[in-house]
Amino acid sequence: MLRGLKHHQAQRDLHADISALQRIGRLPRPAEDSELASAIPQPVVPEKLAVPISENVTIREPARAEVTPALPVQEETMQPGEFERRFEELRTQVLACTKCPNLVAFRHTVVFGVGNPGAELMFVGEAPGADEDMQGEPFVGRAGQLLTKIIQTMGYQRSDVYIANVLKCRPDIPLGTPGNRPPSPTEMETCLPYLRRQIELIRPKLMVALGATAMRGLFGTVEPMKQLRGRWHEFNSIPVMATFHPSYLLKNQALSEKRKVWEDMLLVLDRLGRPITERQKNYFLAR
Ligand code: URA
Repeated sequence: MLRGLKHHQAQRDLHADISALQRIGRLPRPAEDSELASAIPQPVVPEKLAVPISENVTIREPARAEVTPALPVQEETMQPGEFERRFEELRTQVLACTKCPNLVAFRHTVVFGVGNPGAELMFVGEAPGADEDMQGEPFVGRAGQLLTKIIQTMGYQRSDVYIANVLKCRPDIPLGTPGNRPPSPTEMETCLPYLRRQIELIRPKLMVALGATAMRGLFGTVEPMKQLRGRWHEFNSIPVMATFHPSYLLKNQALSEKRKVWEDMLLVLDRLGRPITERQKNYFLAR
């Protein structure tokens, strides 16, 4: 019975995505990637469920629906000022957190989150890097600048949406070592209640999970991003679109990869009922 319901839900999600993409329009492939695409073996999908949206992009039925338990507390209708009080209470609690001694010893600041606490759209990354740790704001480094461009291309300002990470402190690395390390599953599990509470208060209509580590933090899933992206997941009843992390796009400059992220964002805009211009539809296609 449950399996039947899940299958039904998966079918519904799939059909919603199909009609969304049909509304957005069939998306031609970027010319410069066509040879690469034909060199890559395509996954075998049941004919009925295979929906080509461009010649090298296919939506497949989700392998399984990731559904987390319902929120323990539903926010009741709040008195004026109550939302702000609860949000600030959470911020104060997070900024003073000392749950992970290794992170406390290493961090400069705790990176709570930034943006509009009443946002309809929320982006979730993995953890602050060096720039974010110094400035106390998520996504302000190179990857952050690219995320800001994506947000603006979607028709928002950075201040319209909310941006947060699964982990609120920069993962520690040996002193003098450059770069960052991904947060460990234990660190993410320890910090997740803070993100959960942020989501519970903000109640965005949709979320975007940036990268496989963010997906792992939210859902515990270890599937590669190639399998997770481009389809809807659900966190506490909120639809979540998984897409590549902007730092992946910085490392892999192929137009085809940018286009994949953009197709995911078009699905987000469509599901939010936002108008999509011809110009937006055609981003990252050959000019
Ligand atoms: N990468 C993330 O996942 N989060 C940030 O805040 C910055 C880079």
